[in-house]
Amino acid sequence: MDMQDRQLGRIHFVYGENGGKYPFNHSLYLKGDKARVVIDPACSLEKLTKLKSEGVDAVWLSHWHEDHIRYMNIFEACPLWISERDFPPLRNLDIFLDWYGIEEQGARNYWKKEMIETFDYRPRQTACFLRDDEMIDLGGLTVCVLPTPGHTPGHLSFFFPEEELLFLGDYDLTTFGPWYGDLYSSIEETIQSIRKLKAVPARRWVASHNTGLFEENPGRLWDDYENIIYRREEKILNYLDEPKTLEKILSAWLIYGRPREPKEMYEFNERVLICKHLKYLIKQGKIILDGNRYAKT
Ligand SMILES: [Zn+2]
Repeated sequence: MDMQDRQLGRIHFVYGENGGKYPFNHSLYLKGDKARVVIDPACSLEKLTKLKSEGVDAVWLSHWHEDHIRYMNIFEACPLWISERDFPPLRNLDIFLDWYGIEEQGARNYWKKEMIETFDYRPRQTACFLRDDEMIDLGGLTVCVLPTPGHTPGHLSFFFPEEELLFLGDYDLTTFGPWYGDLYSSIEETIQSIRKLKAVPARRWVASHNTGLFEENPGRLWDDYENIIYRREEKILNYLDEPKTLEKILSAWLIYGRPREPKEMYEFNERVLICKHLKYLIKQGKIILDGNRYAKT
C-alpha cells in the first residue's frame, strides 16, 4: 500500500497520481462481505489493476466527469452504478460534449480525440442506477447515497455510518472553489449541496482531489469554499461599474485571476463560469442585460 493510501475499517482510501489533481482523482475501495466496490476509478492505473486482482464486483461513480471515469474500462466485466441523472453523457460522446457546453467544432474535435485517447471513452449502453437516499448493505459496511446536485445534476456523495466517513466527491474544498460551469450545473444547487454535506455528522471526510483525506473536521474550509462563490459574484458586480459586454468581462479574468495555459481550456472555463454567474445575477435581479451589455440594476 502506498504511503498516502489508508485503510479505514473496510474502506481503503486510494491516493491518486499527481496528488489527485486533474486528470486524476482519489478513489475508494470498499470491501464488504457481500460486495467489493471501487468508487471513481481514476486514481492510478497501477493501483486499480492491483485492486482488480484483489477482487472488484462493481464500479460506482459519483458523477460523469472524465477525471472520475478514466480507468473504468479495466473493470469492464463489472456492473457500473451511477445516478440515472448523470448517465446520458456516458452513453454517447456527443452528449458528453453537449453537457459540457462545447459547441465550437474545433474544440469538439479536440475533446473527442482527448476523451478517446487519454480517458479511454467508450460509450456504455447499460448501467445500474444508484437511487437518491438509498441505503446499501455491502456486508459489514453500510452506504447512504446522498444526492448532491449542482456540480452535475446527478452528483452523488456517500456516507458510511460505521466508519463515520463522508465521501464528498467533487465538493472538494480546494482553494480554487466549486465548479459549476456545465450546461446542467447550478450555482444554487451547489450552495445547497455544500451546506448539506457540511451538516453530515462525519468524523472523516474524503474529497476527490488534492488533500483527499481529512481526519479532522475541515472547519472553516467549508465556509471558505462556499464563500468563493460569493467572492466571484462580488468581483463581477464590482467590475460592472459601467455596462459591459460579455467579451469585456471575460477579458478581465475575474475567475482565474489571469490568463492561463492551455489557453483554449482556460478561456472556455472562464467563459462558462462567468456565464453561469451572469445568469444567476439576472435571476436574482442584481443585473440586467441591456442590448449586449450587462449592467447593475
Ligand atoms: Zn467533476
